[in-house]
Amino acid sequence: MKCAEIWCNALALIAPYGLKRELVRGDTFGAALTPPLAATGTTVSILKNAVDSIAIGLEDYSSPDQRRILSCTRNVFAGILLLFKHKLSLLSPLSSDEALIKQRVLPVLDENEHVEWKGKGSKTVDVQGIKERFESLKIDVDWKRIEKINSFRNDIEHYFSNLKHEAIQSLLSDTFLIINDFIRKHLNKDPKELLGDEAWSVLIEVNEVYEREREECLSALQSLNYFDDEILVAFEKYSCEECGSGLILSSVAGSEAINSNFTCKSCGKMLTYEELVNKAVTDHYSYEVYLSHTDGGGSPLADCPQCGGSYLYERGICASCGHTSEHTCQRCSSTIAPEELFFAPFCGYCAHVMSKDD
Ligand SMILES: [Zn+2]
Ligand SMILES: [Zn+2]
Ligand SMILES: [Zn+2]
Repeated sequence: MKCAEIWCNALALIAPYGLKRELVRGDTFGAALTPPLAATGTTVSILKNAVDSIAIGLEDYSSPDQRRILSCTRNVFAGILLLFKHKLSLLSPLSSDEALIKQRVLPVLDENEHVEWKGKGSKTVDVQGIKERFESLKIDVDWKRIEKINSFRNDIEHYFSNLKHEAIQSLLSDTFLIINDFIRKHLNKDPKELLGDEAWSVLIEVNEVYEREREECLSALQSLNYFDDEILVAFEKYSCEECGSGLILSSVAGSEAINSNFTCKSCGKMLTYEELVNKAVTDHYSYEVYLSHTDGGGSPLADCPQCGGSYLYERGICASCGHTSEHTCQRCSSTIAPEELFFAPFCGYCAHVMSKDD
């Protein structure tokens, strides 16, 4: 089946061709692309759609045709959401018209004048809606990981240029962890039985290969000496900006990190220490930097007065060159703000006054 050719870019959540739309449930999933339902009127359950979507995604992955990587990520992500919707559908009260998977839920009166909540319309809940309902129903799912899969899937469509099979190993590895956990814990089923041997073995294999390679990369990174421990944390979290992979391998082990080069094992992108550290540290502190812009407060990062790289203000050291700056003004003893480090060992004010005195 050539899925890639029939995908519509405008839709984020679409069912693969050949998966029948859930007419009875009124799900609009894939409505724009799927053929009319066969006259048999068979309702294909959400669970079956989920399993098919994941299986087709893994077929896309196994195909030698690199163009199918996009449909792989879409299918797999759509499959995860359908698994979630299946759970919500199971929990919906019988007479509620699948209330839990509908975007709109309205109160109606039954014959005894009791309020009942019923699903209305054909729109089903989106990712945010599923998240809110799961949280309210105390169904725990690793949303951070799902966000990662989702943003990776988005990025792969919009930004990444080097699409190779290896590049989506990390996405499939995350997918494996989510699917395995959710099917066992919340659907009380054996994922191997539910997904079938073939799909399951692809997932297991990708996950094992990825985990093994990731372990190798991490232990090489951990063997290096850094100017500050936070730099290692940032490196461990970093994903390649070309392909999204977390497989960043250092060229040397057991020595100074600044003497190493780094290569993405998935796409081959090479970075010097300075290039990697500035990207990784910026990513690592992006939330704190964002907060410092919106809520005020000091930024955890400053431009290094020595090399212009990322200076870790709270740690008092430049991640890029190892420069340590004076943080206390030698004239007035006030703290030198991140943006005033260029005036160290004086604060901006004192530097200004002293320049007038000259
Ligand atoms: Zn890469
Ligand atoms: Zn520096
Ligand atoms: Zn001062």
